[in-house]
Amino acid sequence: MSLPALYVSHGSPMIMIEPSPARDFLVGLGPSLPRPSAILMVSAHWTTTAPVVSTATQPETIHDFGGFPPALYQLQYPAPGAPALAERVTALIGAATERRGLDHGAWVPLLLGWPDADIPVTQLSVQPRLDPAHHYRLGQALAPLRDEGVLILASGALTHNLRAYFRGGEDETARSIVFADWMAAALEQGRVDDLLNYRTRAPAAEQAHPTDEHLLPLFVALGTGGHGKVLHRSLDGSLAMDAYAFGSA
Ligand code: ZN
Repeated sequence: MSLPALYVSHGSPMIMIEPSPARDFLVGLGPSLPRPSAILMVSAHWTTTAPVVSTATQPETIHDFGGFPPALYQLQYPAPGAPALAERVTALIGAATERRGLDHGAWVPLLLGWPDADIPVTQLSVQPRLDPAHHYRLGQALAPLRDEGVLILASGALTHNLRAYFRGGEDETARSIVFADWMAAALEQGRVDDLLNYRTRAPAAEQAHPTDEHLLPLFVALGTGGHGKVLHRSLDGSLAMDAYAFGSA
C-alpha cells in the first residue's frame, strides 16, 4: 500500500473548539485515507539544529501554548509511540533519537483526523537554521516509507505571520492570498526549484513567513512525492490553512 505524504495547516489551537472550514477538513481527512500502519509527524513546533526522531513508547501530549481556554489543556492524544518507525527513520536519514511527546502541531491534526488514537505515531523535528533544500532532501530519503504503509504527516501553516494575524485587516489577508495562490500554482505544477527558493521568488514571502519553521514541514512532504495536489484551502483571518497531498494514494 502506498500512501500520499500530506502537509496540513494546524493553525491556532482554537481550531479544537471553534468551528471552521479547516477543522471540518481535518475531521474528514483521516476517514478519507487507507489506515496507515504508523504515522510520522513532522511538526513546526519541534525545532532542532539537526534531525531528531522520537523513540517514545507512550508519547505524552505536550500543551506547548499559553493563554488559551482551560479546555485545551485537558486534551490528550494517547496513541502508542512508534519506536520501530523511529529506528527506520534513523536508518534512512541518520537522525538522532530522543524520547519526546507530541506537540500541538502534531496532536491537533491527529486528534481531529484520527480521534481513536490507535495508530502508532512518532515525530521528526525540523531545522530552522537549515534551508528548504535540506528539508526536501529529508523527504526524498523518507519517501520509501510511503510504500511501507506509513503516513508522513507534515504540519505547519501555509502562512504564519502571527503579528499580522492579531492585527487583522484586509491588507494582511490579501497578502496571504497572493502568497498562497503562488504556492498553489507552484505546487500543482511541480516547480520544485521555485518552491525551494520561495523566499526570493514568491510574492509577499517575508510577510507570509517572518520565520519559516511553519513552512519547512511542507518541503519534507514535497521531497517524498514531486508535486502537490490541493486538498483544502481556507483562511482564518490572514492565516492560510491550506493542505496538500504529495504522491498518489
Ligand atoms: Zn503552529
